[in-house]
Amino acid sequence: MKKILVTGGAGFIGSHLCEQLLNDGNEVICLDNYFTGSKTNIVHLLTNPYFELVRHDVTMPYYVEVDQIYNLACPASPIHYQYNAIKTVKTSVMGAINMLGLAKRIKARILQASTSEVYGDPKIHPQTEEYWGNVNPIGTRSCYDEGKRCAETLFFDYHRQNKVDIKVIRIFNTYGPRMHPNDGRVVSNFIVQALKGEDITIYGNGNQTRSFQYVDDLINGMIKMMNSRKEFIGPVNVGNPGEFTIKELAEKVIKLTDSKSKIIYLPLPQDDPTQRQPNISLAKKELGWTPTIKLDEGLVKTIEYFKTII
Ligand code: NAD
Ligand code: UDP
Repeated sequence: MKKILVTGGAGFIGSHLCEQLLNDGNEVICLDNYFTGSKTNIVHLLTNPYFELVRHDVTMPYYVEVDQIYNLACPASPIHYQYNAIKTVKTSVMGAINMLGLAKRIKARILQASTSEVYGDPKIHPQTEEYWGNVNPIGTRSCYDEGKRCAETLFFDYHRQNKVDIKVIRIFNTYGPRMHPNDGRVVSNFIVQALKGEDITIYGNGNQTRSFQYVDDLINGMIKMMNSRKEFIGPVNVGNPGEFTIKELAEKVIKLTDSKSKIIYLPLPQDDPTQRQPNISLAKKELGWTPTIKLDEGLVKTIEYFKTII
C-alpha cells in the first residue's frame, strides 16, 4: 500500500484518479481548494478509511509524508482559468514549486499533469513531444499555457539540480462523467445544450479539430506513467489520436442525444488552436499504453451522466 497525495483531487480528472488509486489498494490524500472542484465529486469516497480530504491552496506550502504526488491542481477550462488569470499563473508556478519542494524533502516521486496547450497553435501535426510549440506569451490563454510551460521547466530543473524523481505527462482534451456542466468546455457544453434542447454553440466555423480522450483511458495512462521505470521522466503525450472537427462533434452529440437542437455559430475566442492531435508512439513504446475507448462510446457514457444531473 502506497501513500499518495493528489492535488486538485476534487476536480473532474482528480476524482477519477483518487477513486482508481483507492481501488488499487492505496491510501489517498486529496488536496483541493474547491475553486473548480467540488465535494460532490468525491463524496462517495469519504466513507473509505484510506481516503483523506484536505482543504488547501497549492500556492501555500503543504507538508505531509507520502510516497507519490500527482500534481493536478489548476483550473483547466478557459472560462475558469481566465476568471483570475494571475491566480492561474500562481497556481501553476507556485503550486509546482511547493509540490516539488515537498517531493525533494520527502523523496517522493511526483507527476505533473501538463497539457497539450504547451504546443499552443501547433505548426507540427500531429504533435510529438520534441515539438517546442507555438504559444502566444501575452494573450488571454497565456496564463494557462505559459503557467503550465513554466511548471514543466521547474520540474526539469528540480530534476537536474536536486535529483527529484519527476514524471511529466501532456494531457490532450479529456472528457467524461463529473465534468462541470458550466465549465464551458466543448464536450460538456454541447451535451448540456443538446439535452436541454438549446442551440449548440460552435465557435468559429467549426473546422478546428481536437482529439478527445475518455477519462478512464487517461487515468490508466497516468498511473502507468507514475509507476514506469525511474529513467523515463517524459514529457509524454497522453491522448486519443482520433481527430474530429468541432462541427463533427456537434453532429455526433445531436445524433446520440436524439436532440432537436440547432447549431449556431459564434465568434472564435482569441488564440483558439486550429488543430490538435497527439502522436502517442512514445507512450505506446514506454508505457505499453494505448487508449481503448472510441469517441461514440465515451460520449454515450458521458451523456448518461449528464442526464442524471440535469
Ligand atoms: P478541474 O478544474 O475539474 O480540476 C482542477 C482541480 O484543481 C479542481 O478541483 C480545483 O478546485 C483545484 N484547484 C484549482 N486551483 C487550486 C489551488 N490553487 N489549490 C488547490 N486546488 C486547486 O479540471 P480537470 O479537467 O480535472 O484538470 C485537472 C488537471 O489536468 C489540471 O491541471 C489541468 O490543467 C490538466 N489537464 C486537463 C485537461 C482536460 O482536458 N480536462 C487537459 C490537459 C490538462
Ligand atoms: N468550442 C465551441 N463551442 C463551445 C465550447 C468550445 O465551439 O461551446 C470550441 C473551442 O473554441 C475550441 C474547441 O471547441 O475550438 C475546444 O474547446 P475547449 O474549451 O473544450 O478546449 P481547448 O480549446 O482548451 O482545447
